[in-house]
Amino acid sequence: MKRPYNFSAGPAAIPEEVLTLAASEMLDWHGSGMSVMEMSHRGKEFTSIYAQAHTDIRELLAIPDNFKVLFMQGGGLGENAIVPLNLSRASTVDFVVTGSWSQKSQQEARKYCSVNIAASNEAQGYTTRPAPASWRLSSQPSYVHICSNETIHGVEFHQLPDLKAMGCDAPLVIDFSSHVASRSVDWSRVGLAFGGAQKNLGPAGMTLVVVREDLLGHALPVCPSAFDYRLVADNQSMYNTPPTYAIYLAGLVFQWLKRQGGVAAMEARNIAKAELLYQAIDSSQLYVNKVAQDCRSRMNVPFFLRDESRNEAFLSGANANGLLQLKGHKSVGGMRASIYNAMPIAGVQALVDYMREFERTQS
Ligand SMILES: *Cc1c(COP(=O)(O)O)cnc(C)c1O
Repeated sequence: MKRPYNFSAGPAAIPEEVLTLAASEMLDWHGSGMSVMEMSHRGKEFTSIYAQAHTDIRELLAIPDNFKVLFMQGGGLGENAIVPLNLSRASTVDFVVTGSWSQKSQQEARKYCSVNIAASNEAQGYTTRPAPASWRLSSQPSYVHICSNETIHGVEFHQLPDLKAMGCDAPLVIDFSSHVASRSVDWSRVGLAFGGAQKNLGPAGMTLVVVREDLLGHALPVCPSAFDYRLVADNQSMYNTPPTYAIYLAGLVFQWLKRQGGVAAMEARNIAKAELLYQAIDSSQLYVNKVAQDCRSRMNVPFFLRDESRNEAFLSGANANGLLQLKGHKSVGGMRASIYNAMPIAGVQALVDYMREFERTQS
């Protein structure tokens, strides 16, 4: 039986191949007699799973040697506190606000440091990206935070800002939760990147943190030990029990990504998927996406029906056609199609076919 196409923003679809493999290994991982869930995180079985996942994500994202890779807990919102606890030095931090997630991040940071909003596109309804030339960075921020893909508003940075070229020495922090592994990262421009796994890497529960080594060791005294990047790094993410099953499953996704040809191959497919969907929206009389063309996310595509009274009919018809979880975020309304790595082009084609058919017959 063919599984439906799942457009959830997160927790999101996981490649079927990965789910099938995990199911086959559920009761007995590689002849160990144990489920991965039942293993000591310090035993040889789990340490090998961890080491493989760690090696694979470094390779997939081409992470330079002077960065540490941490598998933490707490999710993206946890990092909104953990980053300032580790990097702010209780001084000033700059934020560029391009949607709900960066908005939430700056709000949380205020508990730990003073915040300067260097730029915001809130007045434009989060449909654009403020040009770096217009950012009003403070003179010596501890770091500059951006959300490189706004999952709710569908605004993406297709190029990371070059802070050095803007005369700013501070490290750039990126929340890449919803587009990690969908495209390459220019690490020369990044100090720290974080992302919850449940969008593009695996199940909820694991948070990926990639941090430049020189940024470790500056945690505020109130920072919980389990969230002190230096302690976590010095203990290979095993200062406390890591989210073992989530790491295992993300590891299977990493192996799947490598079989697909790695991040460059995924990026090419993601471009084709996004073009197909945006083209269908832009060429229709019924559907509309309000984000400026050059700011549109390849991963999260919010769109509206010009006749909102057809929303329920659209969604129930989609469900009946095996197209799940297309309802937009409650703060924005309308629809949202999240087309992460696990979404094949056939799934986007099926959505586009359904949208055309719905427009032809139902509007
Ligand atoms: C989903 C998401 C978060 C929140 O992640 P949680 O795991 O729910 O804390 C933060 N930032 C971005 C960009 C997201 O997409």
